[in-house]
Amino acid sequence: MEEIRKIIMMTSDASGENLENDNQQFAVCSVCGEPLQDFFRDRAGNRVTFMGHSTHPRRCACQRAEDEAKAAEHEHERHMSTVDRLSSICFAGNPAMRELTFEESKLDNPAVVICRKYAEGWEKAKAENLGMLLWGDVGTGKSYMAASIANALLQQEVSVRMLNLSDVMNATFESREELLRAVRQCSLLIIDDYGMERDTEFGNEIAFQVIDARYQSRKPLIVTTNLSLNTLTSPKDTDHKRVYDRILEMCSPVHFEGGSLRPGIRKRKMDRLGEILGIKKEGKE
Ligand SMILES: [Zn+2]
Repeated sequence: MEEIRKIIMMTSDASGENLENDNQQFAVCSVCGEPLQDFFRDRAGNRVTFMGHSTHPRRCACQRAEDEAKAAEHEHERHMSTVDRLSSICFAGNPAMRELTFEESKLDNPAVVICRKYAEGWEKAKAENLGMLLWGDVGTGKSYMAASIANALLQQEVSVRMLNLSDVMNATFESREELLRAVRQCSLLIIDDYGMERDTEFGNEIAFQVIDARYQSRKPLIVTTNLSLNTLTSPKDTDHKRVYDRILEMCSPVHFEGGSLRPGIRKRKMDRLGEILGIKKEGKE
């Protein structure tokens, strides 16, 4: 069978250079005019018979285009289903985040540019194990941007996991073990809203387990937090210090300030509502 494949590969070369002078006797495609059969030939181009046959069917230009379109469609479906599977794993705790993208965000803020560049330069960030600490007040778009990075990478079939530490704390022992495995294995880990979980000895122990597991994996980490950089650089005790130190070692601080996202969303929703209801904006026709 391998031999047949080689010979067909050799003779049905889409360039058609072997067809000259011989193709008049073959039926041709009524659309592209290419012959629908070809001779078996050896490497030197001489006709040969193969298992009693001197010719074999040949795909014309239209059929080849159809083959390519089918292959592309198949590849597209494979890609979409992979992205879908990775996205549902990534945002298992918060499926609504699947909709958050740079394209949708209208934030105007230097930190946004950094997040977009991070996603664009992912291969480098990954190779050099560069993470980010997105810190700043509530409502400045940190989680939105982290989710946008995740979605941009998921489109490239990168495995991303976005979780918050409460998910890990509240998990059963088995599912916690599974989460910790994911923490080590995913290409990008995002810990959302760090510092919002219970600040207990147990909570802090879980935080250390997660951060340390990621640290040992030598893969990038993004953390979003409402804690200030000042809090993180001056921990109140050694238990917090060991977590904060690891985070600061793995993640470059990016400050989100002003330009609060939520009023932006409100305005966009109002604009959209206006469009739907046919209300014209002031100052425009
Ligand atoms: Zn054709």
